[in-house]
Amino acid sequence: MTAAATSVERYEITLNTPRGPVTTALEVPTGFVPVTSIVPLARRLGERAAEEELRATEQAAVPISCRAGCAACCRMMIPLSAPEAFALKEYVNGLPGTDRDRFTRRIEETTTALRQAGLLDALIELANTPKPLSDADMDALNRAYYALRLPCPFLEEERCSLYEHRPSACRELLVTSPAELCQDLVHNPVEPLPVSIRVSTVLGLLWAELTDHVPRLIPLPLALEWAEQHDQESRRVWKGGELLDRVLDKVWRLLSQAMGDGKC
Ligand code: SF4
Repeated sequence: MTAAATSVERYEITLNTPRGPVTTALEVPTGFVPVTSIVPLARRLGERAAEEELRATEQAAVPISCRAGCAACCRMMIPLSAPEAFALKEYVNGLPGTDRDRFTRRIEETTTALRQAGLLDALIELANTPKPLSDADMDALNRAYYALRLPCPFLEEERCSLYEHRPSACRELLVTSPAELCQDLVHNPVEPLPVSIRVSTVLGLLWAELTDHVPRLIPLPLALEWAEQHDQESRRVWKGGELLDRVLDKVWRLLSQAMGDGKC
């Protein structure tokens, strides 16, 4: 972030979620900033909505089964929006060299395994296609990826090594069904907690609007390379307030859709 971007303006944002209104304070840079600056703010909005969902679940005496050390869902394909891919690259580049090298090696091992399984080309295509995949094709790709049970390159001793910086798709995976069922997320009747604001969708739509492209779905093991290939785009800047307005527009659209549909 540039020196001009260090001054912030504080906003109180209230969202009407399916569980009622939630309010959160956000500090928004007043200067021109890259799109990565809006990522933590969008995640904060998603977390506030998720907190309300958790509170309702607790009130209904339905326990959440997810615990530290259980990483069954870290074998799924985790899609990142472009802003989150850039944010992940920024985070990894800021790590000490030994950590960076370790993650780079694991990512290479993962992409090698994906290539050997015949999935790598389809994942590269997914990250770069100008057309969204059909639901059927996306479902087939998700299933084929999950069938490999490849651990995420950032999973260490069954714990996330970038927990505070993990992608929003990872934050939105909480279940109320017994943890054993997560050993086969495809065939077992797993009950996920409803998600009223999918932050990766919000950020994907934001990037699509800013760049006049379709929303990107970048599989996590490819995210650093994809971000490197799009380094020039990641350097573009916008006013912090403009980015927030655009994010809120998408959040409100998704929330009104969820409440209109009676589902989230
Ligand atoms: S980033 Fe962390 S939470 Fe997400 S899949 Fe990888 S290890 Fe799991």
